[in-house]
Amino acid sequence: MPKKNDRRKSRARSKGDQRKSRVKTRGKLSKKDVKIFKALLIKEKINLLKDMNHLTNETLKKSLRDASGDLSGYAYHMADMASDVYERDFLLQLAAGEREIFLKIDEALRRIEEGEYGYCLNCKKKIAKTRLKAIPRTPYCHSCQEKEEKKK
Ligand SMILES: [Zn+2]
Repeated sequence: MPKKNDRRKSRARSKGDQRKSRVKTRGKLSKKDVKIFKALLIKEKINLLKDMNHLTNETLKKSLRDASGDLSGYAYHMADMASDVYERDFLLQLAAGEREIFLKIDEALRRIEEGEYGYCLNCKKKIAKTRLKAIPRTPYCHSCQEKEEKKK
């Protein structure tokens, strides 16, 4: 009967190892989420690079084609390479707003590598997934972002 099941469940939940694993994964983005956000960031970065006239060469077109499908390691490598070769020149030419976006994307990608992505830089709390999906590069949660904007 349901009562018996409930008792069994609550006993299992009180086991130490289960609690430990819950603490370990608490607040962490799953590997799947990380992959999704990484793909979003790389796409955004490539789109930003694409807007710059220099990069409309065949190599980039190919990397864009790759990136628009399954985001393979190759596409990531291409995005990386594009940034290595062109980043310095780009940064000099970008408008201030674009440069800020570009740097934020890079920073977010770095935070993904370091496993810190998805946490607010200010209050250290988890950033809502819906917010990350809308603005993958954001380093702040909604309320801290609002505070930042009020300061300006
Ligand atoms: Zn915050």
